[in-house]
Amino acid sequence: MPPLPSQARVVIIGGGIVGCSVAYHLTRLGWTDVLLLEQGRLTSGTTWHAAGLVGQLRGTRTMTRMSRYGIELYSSLEAETGAATGWKRCGAVTVARTPERMTLLKRNVATARSFGVEAELVTPAEAGKLWPLMRTDDLAGAVWLPGDGKANPTDLTQSLAKGARSRGARLVEGVKVTGFDLKGGRVHGVKTDQGDVACEVVVNCAGQWARALGKLAGVTVPLFSAEHFYIVTKKVAGVTPDLPVLRDPDGYIYYKEEVGGLVMGGFEPEAKPWGMAGIPDRFEFQLLPEDWDQFEILMRNALHRTPCLEQAEVRQLLNGPESFTPDGNFILGEAPGVGGFFVAAGFNSAGIANAGGAGRLTAEWIVAGEPTADLWEADIRRFAPFHGNARHLKERTVETLGMHYAMHWPRQELTSVRPLRRSPLYDRLKAKGAQFGAKMGWERALYFGEGGAPSFTAPPWLADVRAEQRATRQAAAIFDQTSFAKFRLQGRDALKVLQRLCANQMDVSPGRMVYTALLNRRGGFESDLTVIRLSEDAFFIVTGTAQATRDADWIRRHIGDDMAVLTDVTSAWSVLSVMGPKAEAVLRAASPDDLALPAGATSTIDLGHARVMSARMAYVGGPGYELYVPTEFAATVYDTLSEAGAAHGLKDAGYYAMDVLRIEAGRRGFGHELTPDDTPLEAGLMYAVKLDKGGDFLGREALLRQREAGCSKRLGIFRVEDPRAFPWGGEGLLRDGRPAGEVTSSGYSDLLGTSVVMSYVRADRPIDRGYVLSGSYELDIAGERVKVTPLAKPPFQG
Ligand SMILES: Cc1cc2nc3c(=O)[nH]c(=O)nc-3n(C[C@H](O)[C@H](O)[C@H](O)COP(=O)(O)OP(=O)(O)OC[C@H]3O[C@@H](n4cnc5c(N)ncnc54)[C@H](O)[C@@H]3O)c2cc1C
Repeated sequence: MPPLPSQARVVIIGGGIVGCSVAYHLTRLGWTDVLLLEQGRLTSGTTWHAAGLVGQLRGTRTMTRMSRYGIELYSSLEAETGAATGWKRCGAVTVARTPERMTLLKRNVATARSFGVEAELVTPAEAGKLWPLMRTDDLAGAVWLPGDGKANPTDLTQSLAKGARSRGARLVEGVKVTGFDLKGGRVHGVKTDQGDVACEVVVNCAGQWARALGKLAGVTVPLFSAEHFYIVTKKVAGVTPDLPVLRDPDGYIYYKEEVGGLVMGGFEPEAKPWGMAGIPDRFEFQLLPEDWDQFEILMRNALHRTPCLEQAEVRQLLNGPESFTPDGNFILGEAPGVGGFFVAAGFNSAGIANAGGAGRLTAEWIVAGEPTADLWEADIRRFAPFHGNARHLKERTVETLGMHYAMHWPRQELTSVRPLRRSPLYDRLKAKGAQFGAKMGWERALYFGEGGAPSFTAPPWLADVRAEQRATRQAAAIFDQTSFAKFRLQGRDALKVLQRLCANQMDVSPGRMVYTALLNRRGGFESDLTVIRLSEDAFFIVTGTAQATRDADWIRRHIGDDMAVLTDVTSAWSVLSVMGPKAEAVLRAASPDDLALPAGATSTIDLGHARVMSARMAYVGGPGYELYVPTEFAATVYDTLSEAGAAHGLKDAGYYAMDVLRIEAGRRGFGHELTPDDTPLEAGLMYAVKLDKGGDFLGREALLRQREAGCSKRLGIFRVEDPRAFPWGGEGLLRDGRPAGEVTSSGYSDLLGTSVVMSYVRADRPIDRGYVLSGSYELDIAGERVKVTPLAKPPFQG
């Protein structure tokens, strides 16, 4: 073996399919000084024993584009490298056993079409023709995805490795990374069992070892292994290489052809975590012992679906570990707090299908210095250190593996490791009938009521949420928003930092609150947040619950050499919001202080026996106050307000109501209308941007360019004409019969008596508001076309 080089621009750790794909794509982008280190042999971790199913449909446009790119790559790679990949475009059939599953499949087809993926609904009989060995008498229907396929994971990885080598990457086997050289918040090199290597960038592609490896650099990589199974049969009559992949999610199982036999595996609803004592070092080309008891539920369902298995001879029950993340999505990107330390891991049993796209996105992020597309759902910054807790991960993994094929209902919540983070009001709200959902580990009241069975149409909580909306519009409602992430930025240069990062004018007098965007170099939203200037050199920043890690990292990264310190003060403050026309009356009944503040002003007021910071604003539109309350006073303040509000019709309300109310009021939400791929010009948020505030800010150049060139997509608000139709988000929007966008936010508005949605309208040329407001629009809701009308103004003008 050649000696280890003493330096390389990028060191990739892990020679599975993901590491090899990152190496391949970095070299394609011209970064050829790449060293990949693998402790065993290439593919010897998890990759070698994958089943090799390659699907192309994922939840969002970017993620689907990522998977589709993978398929393009896999179908052309052999021609480029000369090394076989085993890629075969055999198509895939997914069957539904129940009407509810069929609705879900129809929704998937609608999404697929909107994303440009070929997909077709087929009858049980047609599905039977595509997959003759399957029983179809109990099916409600099926979907046919002709572009899906299968590949040989080992060959594919070797082919990517060959491509990377041919452009100069060095891939070295038998070298274990044992630590990192960290200085000044950056990684400067890796330590190995065979010497140190200096580098600018490290990419942790260590699969199920990635959590332990991350820990060596202080980076949280929340993933945990579970035992994962499939059987391989000897030849089965009627099984040919062209046989499509078959998925029967109601039976938790999948099939593919392999050398004339069947591979049948699945995702049982209760998984079996593995590796509680850590993942062994020397786990090269190894498997775990068979466990027929754990496999039993899959086997039973498979015997039902394919009776031919009764006679088939099983060659092997393969049990290999794979790592799963707390929300079932990948972990990509540069780690918060450690510059140059990238992660591409946690592939939740979809690493073969997605290594192509994930490798490319990771390489692009490294080269560009920031993500080149909206990767929020896979972004490492969606996690916080608590997600790395091993017991948490182990218990969550039992649930997340099964999520793969479970029914996905609108607004479905995971149930394990809950309740975790709780507001001081949690027990009070629970006693009043709050039903909670979890975000970033926080329990948050969604609505107050009984709940009931989930549904794709009118949800069981609709009446409760409508009553909460009515109270907010006609009297007043109180919302517990304690889960907001909160920071304090302080120091001589705090204003300078904010002026550089924020698109709005931040040089306001102390006491003022400013709503602003944080933009990236492309002019896209990295966040939207409110900032209160506390004093000359101190600012209080309030941002979304889910954005705690992301926004703190973004701000800290851009402080540079300036004199300012960002501190996360989330736990120090509760936030109670009182909104609605009677909000002022409610507060007056509890406070002797002057409350007639102009919008956007803040002041410290007495409230009952406490003192709180009050801001005049309502996210839901109309009058309202946000109260920032030291955590230990939250319960007292809540009781005071509840008592004071009784005479004014004050009602407890939750996030479901708030979400509809903000759509009605035209307020955009981060992660929905505001993503790194959307600009304020496109989102219609230029009122919060001051291009001429004096001095440059991040994203300004891009906005100026876009203003000149025009926008080829713009946000619209639409009323759904049929009140029985329930869009949930993600549905395709058609303009004059052609796909134009997808629903970004949706809710049933009590004010309108029907649903109201937001969606971008895309075109292949610059468009103006007139274009959005003209044209005839429909939504594709599970295959049904539903008329929607673009609204010139948000329905609620408060
Ligand atoms: C039974 C089963 C079936 C599956 N079927 C499919 C499927 O059909 N389709 C699909 O898309 N996916 C499937 N998967 C998932 C897929 O196999 C994985 O997602 C994918 O292989 C992960 O690749 P990776 O490169 O991240 O990890 P790995 O292949 O595990 O590579 C990580 C590498 O890092 C190395 N490493 C770790 N620590 C160090 C260190 N300190 N120094 C040096 N090297 C280190 C390891 O030795 C290992 O080789 C399946 C998985 C299983 C278990």
